[in-house]
Amino acid sequence: MQDVHMQNTGPSSGIATIAPKLLAWYRREARALPWRAPPGKLQDPYKVWLSEVMLQQTTVKTVAPRFIDFLRRWPNVHALARAELGEVLAAWAGLGYYARARNLHACARAVSESHGGRFPDTEEALRELPGIGAYTASAIAAIAFGRRAWPVDGNIERVVARLFAIETRLPAAKPQIKSLAEKLTPATHAGDYAQGMMDLGATVCTSRRPACGLCPVRLDCLGFAKGIAEQLPYKAAKATRPTRRGAAFVAIRKDGAVLLRERPPKGLLGGMLETPSTPWLEEPQSEAAETYAPVKGSWKKLSEIVTHTFTHFHLELAVYRAEVQPRAALRSVAEPARCRWVAQQDLRNAALPTVIRKVLGSALNC
Ligand code: SF4
Repeated sequence: MQDVHMQNTGPSSGIATIAPKLLAWYRREARALPWRAPPGKLQDPYKVWLSEVMLQQTTVKTVAPRFIDFLRRWPNVHALARAELGEVLAAWAGLGYYARARNLHACARAVSESHGGRFPDTEEALRELPGIGAYTASAIAAIAFGRRAWPVDGNIERVVARLFAIETRLPAAKPQIKSLAEKLTPATHAGDYAQGMMDLGATVCTSRRPACGLCPVRLDCLGFAKGIAEQLPYKAAKATRPTRRGAAFVAIRKDGAVLLRERPPKGLLGGMLETPSTPWLEEPQSEAAETYAPVKGSWKKLSEIVTHTFTHFHLELAVYRAEVQPRAALRSVAEPARCRWVAQQDLRNAALPTVIRKVLGSALNC
């Protein structure tokens, strides 16, 4: 602790002054977000948990209306636990990282069935629940239960790295940042403090052009004092993403229904619906794409290639389209047990990931 204080040679009086300034600023400037309680109040753990899971890898702007829809449909953890997984996946469509939706559903069932609908109030017990990792557990513990916990999201990571002018690159700097975040956290009002740090990072200490002139802790900020704030935190060079390629088949029945297949429950886009396709591979496919056509028909390859970027790879999909006979038999390569015909008017509410919506958009609008 003493070392940290000594390292922060900015023009102010040190680490202990940061939290009170930040809390005072948060009371004035807190963002009004649909999952927030006003400063000074604890929030319902269901809302904190739901919002934190939704916000992982997804922006506040995208999450806000989806959070409101979720809450309207499933206002408490028992209601969400009673939902079918397919309904939750469909409601999640477009938010990406679908393992989150599966874990959300599993967690709701665990809280409803094993905890009487009450979220545990300690980080340790929260981490026992499906899909709740260290960050989410500490966010819930602080914001919903007022525990002294120190969640470190991307915003907080950036603010702390700048306050202490940490020049070690991420991710190697994470343990140091986490340790400093703990030292900064006050004994009380840890939830407001954490949300204040999140807001400071989102609105003032932004990754580009931080508005240091508006910052309540500018006088404590070593990064500002050294004139290197905007460059921090330094990041390790990103690995380049490989490109995988494949072909997707859009079979359209005479009545307009489209053939969809449920993906296996685990893994990428697990449990979501897709158009039958070849495997997605980096190396050239060993067999002609048409070998994977789910049904006999006069398949036409569209000129447009559908592209999508996942966390670890880019995807390029050729799209094949065919109008097929109403009673056309599905070929075994399509794995008929997982296939079903879906009316086009039902596609909007189906559990379709963004990449498959692009495929369907290409094939149905041509
Ligand atoms: Fe961020 Fe600037 Fe405030 Fe430092 S002074 S915490 S760099 S906004």
